[in-house]
Amino acid sequence: MKERTLSIVKPDAMKNGSMGAIIDRLQKSGFSIVAAKMTRLSKAQAEAFYAVHKERPFFKSLTEFMCSGPVMVMILEAEEAISRYRAVMGATNPAEAEAGTLRKDFATDKEKNAVHGSDAPETAAYEMGFFFTPYELIALG
Ligand code: ADP
Ligand code: MG
Repeated sequence: MKERTLSIVKPDAMKNGSMGAIIDRLQKSGFSIVAAKMTRLSKAQAEAFYAVHKERPFFKSLTEFMCSGPVMVMILEAEEAISRYRAVMGATNPAEAEAGTLRKDFATDKEKNAVHGSDAPETAAYEMGFFFTPYELIALG
């Protein structure tokens, strides 16, 4: 079953010029891009997107980081895209991420960790709807 997931190239990776390399890695890993936009989050949007983390000590810093510069938001499609993309991203903390993962190769630290990926079908559906209307998804094939 084809599945879709939300990917964000975060402001640290955008700032240091890694966007192209990350997209290249995603395409070579077998993901099709069905929607994409470059945008800059407002503080309110960053807080809404990460609302699940609002009680965490890093919430303020995380949401300030997420609106500190542009992001590239994409919907990726593949077989088991959600878990496969999590594997391609690597662990939240790049120091713990496996060799060859996006976070190992492109992240700055455990907060500024280069990429976001949905963690389950329910969060993927919510996160895709957060950024894209159905009209913005490209029909493949
Ligand atoms: P993931 O992005 O791997 O799903 P989480 O959902 O746990 O990780 O956290 C969301 C984001 O919050 C992380 O990607 C990272 O940017 C930030 N974050 C998570 N844990 C920490 C932490 N201990 N200190 C600072 N930032 C963190
Ligand atoms: Mg998460």
